[in-house]
Formats: sequence, structure tokens, C-alpha cells
Amino acid sequence: MTWRYALVLEPAASDDPRTDFATTFREIDPEAPALSVGELSTQRGDGIFESIGVVDGHPQEVTAHLERLAHSAALCDLPAPHLEQWRQAVAAAAAHCPAAGEGVIKLILSRGVEHGPAPTAWATAAQAADNSAVREHGVRVVTLDRGYAIDTPARAPWLLLGAKTLSYAVNMAAIREARRRGADDAVFVTSDGFVLEAPTASLVLRVADRFVTPAPNAGILHGTTQLSLFEHLAALGHATAYETIPVTALAEADAAWLLSSVRLAAPISAIDGVEVPIDRELTASFNDYLLSPRT
Ligand code: PLP
Repeated sequence: MTWRYALVLEPAASDDPRTDFATTFREIDPEAPALSVGELSTQRGDGIFESIGVVDGHPQEVTAHLERLAHSAALCDLPAPHLEQWRQAVAAAAAHCPAAGEGVIKLILSRGVEHGPAPTAWATAAQAADNSAVREHGVRVVTLDRGYAIDTPARAPWLLLGAKTLSYAVNMAAIREARRRGADDAVFVTSDGFVLEAPTASLVLRVADRFVTPAPNAGILHGTTQLSLFEHLAALGHATAYETIPVTALAEADAAWLLSSVRLAAPISAIDGVEVPIDRELTASFNDYLLSPRT
């Protein structure tokens, strides 16, 4: 039995002094049409979102997701979200998730209706796909050119490269291209030869006893899962670092993972058709940690 829940928020101004936002939420039928045909999120992908993993009814890393929502809003010139209102929306959605199993809560903040007065905002909760096989056996990736150089984000901030916008058509196209090439997923690389991220996940490498990930100022999303895992690794005494990583380092790494809020840690098992060893024990320990309640 799959499950689903949806609510619409009346977005509050970021300085709204209320402490209880229950009256700004309206539960809607998740299967029924809900958006106006004038919605700029659907017409232009003009909006931002977050996907929060839910484990046994507990929404993971809510603060990190809300901070990133606010960051994306600032990059996109959207009104600053009222974080307490969104936190309560997450709690309302989580209250409708089953006490056992994995789910996903999505938060969406759209530019709204063309010529309309305010942004549109909604939250959904749904059952997550079963990711146990991919966590154990890994993902085969291909490297795909993202079409810009490592310094492009600094030169062209209007490309919104560090924002989690609703414009994911390119990301989905990259996954289809990866499948055409016989793989499961992609790793984007810059035109001048540095690794970035996957279309829906961050990349982490183990190089000897260090864990490294591409620096988020290279126009990639700062992953909440990677951030959380690095805190965990640092607490265990491991060295972690944000670096500018050449493509050659990917195949040379001792192990590599794609990390994201719902799939969690997926070990990379092949790169551009060449098998690479996966570290099962370390991957299992990562996923044990990522499946534990995290705030
Ligand atoms: N990079 C991109 C482009 C993503 O879409 C995502 C998640 O959807 C991530 C990285 C990983 O972010 P998180 O760990 O917060 O899910």
C-alpha cells in the first residue's frame, strides 16, 4: 500500500510574529488537481524545492534543509521563507507518515501565478522507493560534461547553479543519457575537467584515509546528506575536506559514493564502463548512520 499526503501553505512574511502557523495550512487531496494553469513553477520551472528523507516517521536534517531552502530563495530573488512556518509544515507532513519505513517530504516554493500577488507554496509526503538494493550493490555511473568551466558560477550567478530550483529537466536528461550508455546514474564534470555532483546527489571520495567532496562554490548544491556524513566522520576522527577535484581522481579513489537524502549512500560500482571495487562494510556503516534519527 503506498501512501501520500499534501498541504498548501499560505506563505508568511519572514518577520511574521506568529508562533503557530496551523491556520496557514490547508490539507488537500494529493491525487486531485491543485495548481492554477498560470503557475510559473509549471510553466517555467520558476521555483525552488527541498526533498527531506523520513525514517520511521522522523524527518531527517530539517534545519539543514530549511537553511538551504532560504539560500535557494535568496539566489532566486524569492521572498525569504518563514522558517518556523515551514518547520511546522514539515511536522504536519511527518505526522501523516507511517511510524515504520521510509518516506520523502517535499517542500515547494514557486514564484506563483503570473501577475499574481504572492508565491505559491506546498508540501507533500509520500512513500520512498525501496533503495536497499542500490545501497548494497551500488550504482554504475558515467561522467557527463556539464558544459561549463569551474569558474562559471562566479562569473554567471544568474545561472543559479547553487540553487535547488525546480528546473530539473537537464538533470533528468543526464540520467536518461547515463541509462542509454548502460549505466544507472551520471557524474557531471566541468568542461575544464573537474568533478561536480550527480544529477540528484553529491559525490564523496575516499582517498587513503581522507574523505573529500567537490567544494560547493563550484556551482553545485551543498548536499545535506554529505554535510551530515562529514560531521559524523569528523566526530569519528576522520579527515574530511572540500576540494577542487580533477576527473582523474574519481577513478583513482579508493572508494566513491553518491549521497542524497532519500537514496542515502550509494557506492559507485563502475565508472564509464570500468568496474571499481565497493567498500561494503564502510557503506553499510554510512547507511546505518544515515538511517538513524538525525536533526
Ligand atoms: N546535488 C543535487 C543536484 C541534488 O539534486 C541533490 C539532491 O536532490 C543533492 C546534490 C544531494 O542533496 P541532499 O543530500 O540534500 O539530498
